[in-house]
Amino acid sequence: MDNFKVPYPYKGQHHCEVVVLFCMDHRYARLVQDFIYKRFDVDRFDPIAVAGGAKTVNDSEDLVDRCFGVSRNLHEVKTIVIVNHSDCGAYGGRKKFATVSEEDDFHYQELNKAKAIMCQKFSDKEIIAVFARLNEEETELEFIEI
Ligand SMILES: [Zn+2]
Repeated sequence: MDNFKVPYPYKGQHHCEVVVLFCMDHRYARLVQDFIYKRFDVDRFDPIAVAGGAKTVNDSEDLVDRCFGVSRNLHEVKTIVIVNHSDCGAYGGRKKFATVSEEDDFHYQELNKAKAIMCQKFSDKEIIAVFARLNEEETELEFIEI
């Protein structure tokens, strides 16, 4: 099998406007990516895809420091985005909650907690927390900035 080659368009370009921490869940990754492109009018971002999104900020300081440190120091990002989503397996999924409203409230709390931690660590950056909310029928995803 031949090696796979593609043109590389980023020679000499190290700056990046946005770093995004989001869940690795394949059902949401592409949709989150599309949201980021449109919302921030960028064609690329530093992706940090880990199970649970904000859960990583709240549970694992080392990982956060390592990943966001590169984005801040090497790529000079201006904005840090943290995304959680409905029915996240890292939190036990939608079935863990009695109602969708209860699930929403839980993720808002997680995101607010993570946002507060990130505001302390990276006080010179804009921190934006986003909840990718799946409606009850699981037919539409809404990106809510909290
Ligand atoms: Zn998830």
